[in-house]
Amino acid sequence: MKVEELKRIADHLRLTAVEMVYKGKDGHPGPALSIADIIAVLYFDEMRIDPENPEWEDRDRFVLSKGHACPIYYAALSEKGYFGEKIKDFKLRALGSMFQGHPVMNKTRGVDMTSGSLGNGIAIAAGMAIAGKYRKKDYNVFVITGDGELQEGICWEGINTAAAHHLDNLIVFVDKNGWQSGGSVVDTIGSNNVRERFEVFGWHAQEIDGHNIEEIKAAIQTAKQAKGKPSVIVCDCIKGKGLPFMENNNAWHKGVPSEEQYKEAVKILGGES
Ligand SMILES: [Mg+2]
Repeated sequence: MKVEELKRIADHLRLTAVEMVYKGKDGHPGPALSIADIIAVLYFDEMRIDPENPEWEDRDRFVLSKGHACPIYYAALSEKGYFGEKIKDFKLRALGSMFQGHPVMNKTRGVDMTSGSLGNGIAIAAGMAIAGKYRKKDYNVFVITGDGELQEGICWEGINTAAAHHLDNLIVFVDKNGWQSGGSVVDTIGSNNVRERFEVFGWHAQEIDGHNIEEIKAAIQTAKQAKGKPSVIVCDCIKGKGLPFMENNNAWHKGVPSEEQYKEAVKILGGES
């Protein structure tokens, strides 16, 4: 798909995610907007999927390890047609809703893995990638993880295992936006040298602008050509990207836009009020 079209889709997904949080009166808009461009490229350009057949054995897999960013994920699944008609009111986080505050695989069509308990995604995806190799399938497994999330020890068990098993069918995006729920990553843990740490573990590593569609597309192709090792694409991202009042403001890790802010979002992201 053309770059301009993917940019338009990413902003449309952003608006849907913000609307979801606004109407549901709860949720995590900042983390969702941070990964909108990666999600747009994966779901609308890269992944081998069939919304009519979400359990297709040969499909590419996706794990949203930073599960709280799910509004953008739900927006993409809806736009791709996983739920038939596009969802108008997601009822995000409502009791009994298909769209919980963190993704649930047996509740929502198209969700390959339940997530939200931070840190699990890479290890689980490594398991999926090992299964693919074992069964001689050619699918790829994609993961999006946060930079704060990498403080969880299990991430590094998965990263170690993936390298040991030469999982070149595993591609991990790190949303390196510099923030986590409680503050800045550097203030919390002292450094945010994601790329170097993955390299030490034997991964193929790239670092790109996580909002540049061309760079995201190219990095995926480079990752797929790196044989014999898993790949990480470290994405320099801006939390809340796309809405100036949200950008790089960690108060929007979790928060609900006011009516005025929602109207501003509609204006900026190209919707109609
Ligand atoms: Mg972060």
